[in-house]
Order: sequence, then structure tokens, then C-alpha cells
Amino acid sequence: MYETLHHYIDGKWTKGSSGKAQDVMNPATNAILGNLPHASKADLDAALAAAQKGFNSWRKVSSMERGKIIRKAGELIRTRADAIATLLTMEQGKILAEAKMEVQGSADICDWFAEEGRRAYGRIIPARADGIRNMVIMEPVGPVAGFSPWNFPVTQAVRKIAASLAAGCSIIIKCPEETPASPIAMLKCFIDAGVPAGVINLVYGVPSEISEYLIPSPIIRKISFTGSVPVGKHLASLAGLHMKRATMELGGHAPVLVFDDANPEEVANLTTGLKFRNAGQVCISPTRFFVHEKVYDKFVAQFTANAKGLKVGDGLDPNSKMGSLANPRRVAAMESIMLDAQEKGAKVATGGKRIGNQGNFFEPTVLTDVPANANIMTQEPFGPVAIMMRFKDTDKMLEQANSLPFGLASYAFTHNGKTASKVADVLDHGMVTINHQGLALPETPFGGIKDSGYGHEGGIEGLQVYMAAKFVSHLG
Ligand code: NAD
Repeated sequence: MYETLHHYIDGKWTKGSSGKAQDVMNPATNAILGNLPHASKADLDAALAAAQKGFNSWRKVSSMERGKIIRKAGELIRTRADAIATLLTMEQGKILAEAKMEVQGSADICDWFAEEGRRAYGRIIPARADGIRNMVIMEPVGPVAGFSPWNFPVTQAVRKIAASLAAGCSIIIKCPEETPASPIAMLKCFIDAGVPAGVINLVYGVPSEISEYLIPSPIIRKISFTGSVPVGKHLASLAGLHMKRATMELGGHAPVLVFDDANPEEVANLTTGLKFRNAGQVCISPTRFFVHEKVYDKFVAQFTANAKGLKVGDGLDPNSKMGSLANPRRVAAMESIMLDAQEKGAKVATGGKRIGNQGNFFEPTVLTDVPANANIMTQEPFGPVAIMMRFKDTDKMLEQANSLPFGLASYAFTHNGKTASKVADVLDHGMVTINHQGLALPETPFGGIKDSGYGHEGGIEGLQVYMAAKFVSHLG
């Protein structure tokens, strides 16, 4: 069982005033871990007032001082990583080794934004007449409303919090109701590092009620959402209606291109690890494998053998190599995807079924011969399923790789420089990584195009989205 779960508003832990709450379950055992209070409108009003007050003072703190506090939060996250990771595994299901990596990675995000906030440079533009100074000054955009998801409950919240704070913004963050304790433990690191009251406010509740209340509020100046495309479109339209800046980090359906000069076994070994990380519940998870016909058989054999050999179990068991899915909705989604694909003629090379009847376990799954009209060919599986496709003609394959409305991550494996350049040019995705997994580092921009959203988290771009450029022209 957890300690008590709370909101954090204006520097105080509170159960709020709604009287409503929900249970939080361990997805590996179905045990109830705790009871999470829901925020009322009065609680949200208190968070909004606190965020305005927090912003008024935090924006005046120098970026150097802000950086010290954010870096200290990162150090505390590192020190407490084992305890935070254990909570994360218990409520989300991923294996402990991955949870630790997530938590350590969050500390690295703090380091990056602590430094980058000091480099929020503006510029001087040459004037047309003597005595005029044309300046662009980068200012924090204002109080932020952040909505972070359950697949990376710590990292995704830290990306929004550290970037907001580095820019000089305050934030109200709604973390995922299904995985609330690890974000609370992470937030305590920011509080203990010295973030003043009102600068970070954490609330839980009914997601639609919270977003529909916060986004229109005149106090909120920026929205940052990570989640599904349909919810992202809804929140983007609300943000548009109220003229709020927004970052939308939404779903993907990543293609993986394996050319005939790549080593099929080596690539299979690398990409099996990527596919089944977090049981495939990753927006950049590799899903559509386009494999050249010359290396197809070897690649699929190795990938399938790896998938079969993965031990699935409770994330707290050190022998587990893949944990449970995060919630029963994902199991239902996997079952529906499998039923549809098999009815339409797909072949199952391995997996395809739920494991047991306690917890949300699903087999690592590899599909071949999937017809174009199967749902999984166009809908993000967000689970442990890989689709294998054979190709011969590169141009036709690239067309197919670009054919979906998604445009987030893409992967390619080739040692031919010309092919690599072509792939980098032609792939219509926000991120392309060639011959390795090079995505999602704090210092590199992370973001999509098309239905996968807009704006970036990470890199210098990840700071800029929390800033507004003010132009000042001064004669005299
Ligand atoms: P969902 O679409 O109901 O919710 C997705 C996320 O958005 C959740 O964190 C949820 O709390 C939040 N949310 C839902 N409605 C909201 C609203 N009106 N206002 C604010 N937040 C809201 O689906 P789900 O079953 O929780 O997740 C499944 C789908 O979500 C997956 O298929 C995947 O596409 C997507 N997802 C993507 C990411 C990502 O990293 N891009 C992360 C988690 C989930």
C-alpha cells in the first residue's frame, strides 16, 4: 500500500474538497495500492491563483538561481531513484531496471534544462537609423497547464516541469491518475530542492473536467499535453479557441527500414529490445518493420526467437524482461487488434494472447502477412506487437512508410551512405534515427509532425516553447 495520495497546491499537500476519489491498482497483481482524491473546481481555482502568484515571483528569480534549484531537484531524484522506481513499477508495470532508467533519465532532463535556462538568449537586430536599438527579449510565456501520461509517469512530467521552470514559468500539472505515486515522489524532490510555493502545483481528477476548466482560464498561457491523437486534437482545439500556445506530443506508428546491407541478426537484437521496452507502450515504439527480401527470413527468425525468449512477469521480479501492460484497456486493445488481424488473414509468428487471468500480461507478439486492411496497419497498437513486411523496391516501401497520418519516430538500418541520406530526406516523420536508437535524449528535440502533434520537448526547442519573444525598439 502507498502512503496517502495528495494534490500539491500553493505549497501544501491537500486532499482537496471534492470528496471524490478513485482506487489505484497494481497492474501486475490487481492489488489496490491506494485511493487517489479528485480535485474539485475550488481546488483548481486555488491551483490557478497559486500558479499566478508563483509566476509573478519565479519569473523574477535569475535563470542562474532557477538553474541551481532545478539541478538540485535532479540530484535528489538520483539519490531517491530506487524508491521512486519501485513505486513506478508497482503502479505502472514496467520492469524495475526500466523504471530505474526512467528515473535516472529524468534527473538528466533536470540537468539539461537547469543549464539551458541560462542560455535563453534574445538578439540585437541592426537598426535602420543611428541611435535605435532593436532587441528581441525572450520572456517566460506564463503559467502552464501540463497533462502527462501513464506510460512514463516520471519522465513525461519532469520534461514539462523542468522546462517550464527553466523558462521562468509556473505550472499546474495533472499527472496520470493510474500512476500517481511516482510523480508525487518526484515532485517532493523539486520541493526539497527549494521550489517556492505556487510555482509547481500538482492535481489529479477526471482528466476532461480538469483540462476543460484549466485551458480556458485566462491565467493559463500555455498547454503541454502528451497522450493520444484524439485527446490531443480535442485539447488543441480548446487551446485554439482560447488562443493558448500548445505543445502536443501524440501517438506514432514508427516504421523500421532494414536494408539488404544491414546485418539482420544484429538489427533484430537491437530492435527487439526497443519494441518490447515498456511492453510496447511507447509513442516511438518500432511497429512496422519493412525488411528487404534478401534479409527478411533471417531477420524475422531472429526477432521472433528473441520475442519468444522474453520472460514476462511482475516488474518487481528481477527475472522479468517485460512487465505487464499498464491497465486493462491495453489488454482489451491488444485482444481486439489480434482478433481483427487474424480474421483478416495475418499469421502469428509468436505470441498473440493474454497471459493468465491476473494482472494485465500479454505475450510479446510478432505478426507476418498482415493484410493492408487490418486495423493494426493504420492504428497505433501501443502494446507488444510487431508487424513484419517484406520489401524489394525502396521507393514503393518509402511511400508506404510515409502513408499514415502519424509522423513521429522512424528507424533505418543501412551501411550505404547514399541510402541513409535518401531515407533521412524522404521519411516524413519528426525524428529519424539511422543504425542505432538515438532518440529522446534531453539535449535533442523530441516531437512529431502531422497527427503526431507539434512543438518539441527536449533540446533548445524544448525550452523555447515555454518562452515568448518580445520585440523592443528603443531610440535614444
Ligand atoms: P486516452 O486517449 O483516454 O488517454 C490518453 C491520456 O490522455 C491519458 O493520460 C489520459 O489521462 C489523458 N486524457 C484523456 N482525456 C483527457 C482530457 N479530456 N483532458 C486531459 N487529459 C486527458 O487513452 P488511454 O487508454 O489512457 O491511452 C491509450 C492511448 O493513449 C494509446 O493508444 C496511445 O495512443 C496514447 N498514449 C500516448 C502516449 C504518448 O506518449 N504519446 C502516452 C500515453 C498514451
